[in-house]
Amino acid sequence: MARRLAITVRGIVQGVGFRPFVHNAATSAGLSGWVVNQSDCVHIEVEGPDEAVTCFLDRLRNEHPPQATINQLDAVSIPCVDAPTPAEPAFAIRSSTAGAAHRPTLPPDLATCSACLHEIKSASERRYAYPFTNCTNCGPRWSIITGLPYDRPRTSMDSFEMCSECRDEYDSPLDRRFHAQPIACPHCGPSLQLLELTGVTRAEGKEALQAAAVAVRAGAIVAIKGLGGFQLIADATSQRAVQRLRRRKQRPRKPLAVMLPDMQAVDACCHLSRFEQTQLTSPQAPILLLKRRQGVHGSVLIADSVAPANPYLGVMLPNTPLHTLLVTEIKRPIICTSGNRAEEPMAIDTSEACTRLAGIADLILTHNREIVRPVDDSVCRADDGTLQILRRARGYAPVPVPLAGPAPSILAVGSHLKNTVALSIGADVVVGAHVGDLDNTLSLDVHRRAISDLVNFFDVQPEAIACDLHPDYASTQHAERLAHSWNVPLFRIQHHHAHVLSAIAEHSLKGPVLGFAWDGTGYGPDGTIWGSEALSIDGPQWQRVAHLRTFPLPGGDQAAREPRRSALGLLYEYLGAESTGIASGWFTDSELSTLLAALQRQQLFPRTSSMGRLFDAIAALCGATETVSFEGEAAMGLEYLADEAETAAYSIPLSDSLPAVGDCQGLVQAVIDDRARGVPIARISARFHNALADLALQVACRVGCPQVVLTGGCFQNRLLTRRARACLSEAGFEVYTQRSVPAGDGGISLGQVLGAVYQVGE
Ligand code: ZN
Ligand code: ZN
Ligand code: FE
Repeated sequence: MARRLAITVRGIVQGVGFRPFVHNAATSAGLSGWVVNQSDCVHIEVEGPDEAVTCFLDRLRNEHPPQATINQLDAVSIPCVDAPTPAEPAFAIRSSTAGAAHRPTLPPDLATCSACLHEIKSASERRYAYPFTNCTNCGPRWSIITGLPYDRPRTSMDSFEMCSECRDEYDSPLDRRFHAQPIACPHCGPSLQLLELTGVTRAEGKEALQAAAVAVRAGAIVAIKGLGGFQLIADATSQRAVQRLRRRKQRPRKPLAVMLPDMQAVDACCHLSRFEQTQLTSPQAPILLLKRRQGVHGSVLIADSVAPANPYLGVMLPNTPLHTLLVTEIKRPIICTSGNRAEEPMAIDTSEACTRLAGIADLILTHNREIVRPVDDSVCRADDGTLQILRRARGYAPVPVPLAGPAPSILAVGSHLKNTVALSIGADVVVGAHVGDLDNTLSLDVHRRAISDLVNFFDVQPEAIACDLHPDYASTQHAERLAHSWNVPLFRIQHHHAHVLSAIAEHSLKGPVLGFAWDGTGYGPDGTIWGSEALSIDGPQWQRVAHLRTFPLPGGDQAAREPRRSALGLLYEYLGAESTGIASGWFTDSELSTLLAALQRQQLFPRTSSMGRLFDAIAALCGATETVSFEGEAAMGLEYLADEAETAAYSIPLSDSLPAVGDCQGLVQAVIDDRARGVPIARISARFHNALADLALQVACRVGCPQVVLTGGCFQNRLLTRRARACLSEAGFEVYTQRSVPAGDGGISLGQVLGAVYQVGE
């Protein structure tokens, strides 16, 4: 009995060799029909004997390509059309049709697969040492696609005409490159160029790569056009090269990521679990934060200045053939960091790189495949056998985060720091790649382009826009303009509310949730700066149920860079002006008297309940009083110092009011006393961390809600997260932390989407 089925497959099914797989499965089963990419799905019709059709469906479900994810598969019987000619069934891959609403059905950029790696290392292969080798299982996707459905004319490979050999591979159903859209070879594909910053060509092709490697070995800083933007590379074993890079990039101490040639090299510098190995070699190939081995180890010596005073090292393996070839040529670990100055965005085109990286890079290794949108390297870490994404970009964006059910289309513009933007489409939220801090016009430009890119790419007209409650954020002001010009409502979602909603969205939590959003800064509706929030949330309803007692922040935003200011404010609040003598070593006499005079005038300085600033203040009381070079540096230092064996805790009593207020007076006094008694800082730090875990437990017991969420930048602190999770789980609470989106402000856009979804529904 012959049968014909119309099949619709949704999920990540484009750009992963799905149609070739369907073609092969249908052909080998002797079926006729066709397959086509549509904007929102892959559509298949097959016809043939009953058993063969059933067998085909089974293979579709169970044997699809490794990078594909099937979220939905619908099959309906339709009347047969082909005359059954089993001798020569015709199964065709039809050209893609646009038209239907766009859905997130494409994969992110994928690291080089093992088959392609083998080819670039084998002298007999025609792609030997070719930096742009890829196939249906690997290579650029999101960074080169200009539109849907995913096909070569809608990628930046459009300008390269395939040679006859590549064309044969592309057309051959048995080839690994059957319908591999970015297919390329040395004859027809992109090629390398080594430029001076003036734009003058130094070398081309293989010579360009070799000359770049020689320069790096000699201590130069080379900008390379990576997968999703320019990166800066330098010899990671050379203290001088690293220092030079830091000076030029204006990045004094923030840790830099290293790229190591292989797992053996990683193992030589860092402790590494099975799980962590799997992540490093995954198609996402993120930067993974690994615990460094102590002391001198093997032949791999990473300069101290790569990650000063940090027990962790951000490590990645080469993720494109270009990186593999370069690392092989350099024969040393290299620094591989975003191609930018300080907090500016990454450059993505060559002329921009020549201008913006002048004064930073000595040479530019570039190529002629255009990058369509910036996609930075992702940063992750493993925690208790799960992956936690800290910066979400290459390999993860634009994989959608599924919501609990279909939602109106919302555009969320994200937070001011570590910005991401998000767009809901059906029951999915696409969170765009990490944009960065919106402190300069270049970043704002990237932010605005990221918004128009998402909206245009998925061809969605948002029904509403979500932004932060802070009226002065550039993102808020842009959202106001967009809402006006699109004539759609604007919803302002409080920062910490958005943090908790982000975790609720990520875990599809239903019913009441107690959320702890502990971070540096967020605009509170009461005129104070929030940051140690416990929020009780049930769907659209939310209430602030606990926070720390506020303290003045001398100098406002300046305090984020100067922990001593937070410490002075904390001392003044809790122990009064007479206690501030402790601060005399931190400021000059005139600075201190000016600040104290200002503190006496109420309301001159903003007041905050920020947990991040409390961390800074305690770090300063423990001696870390110098200016920090990035937010959270002092807090990180405090975390790394902690003696994990210490079980004692300071106490933070809670008031009976609603919201309950945590009082740090005893804590501050105890830290000062312990310091005076010579208690090691490692133990003081641990007691402080333990106090915060206890505080979370006290609040949770008071509220009595079984589902508890831990989010906000402070929960990137591994010790705090572990201690709080342990306390809460032991007491019977279900504890959720963020995994697939960052707990820091990179996760805010997802939470804003959910916040607006609730309000649209009201
Ligand atoms: Zn491949
Ligand atoms: Zn070719
Ligand atoms: Fe935050």
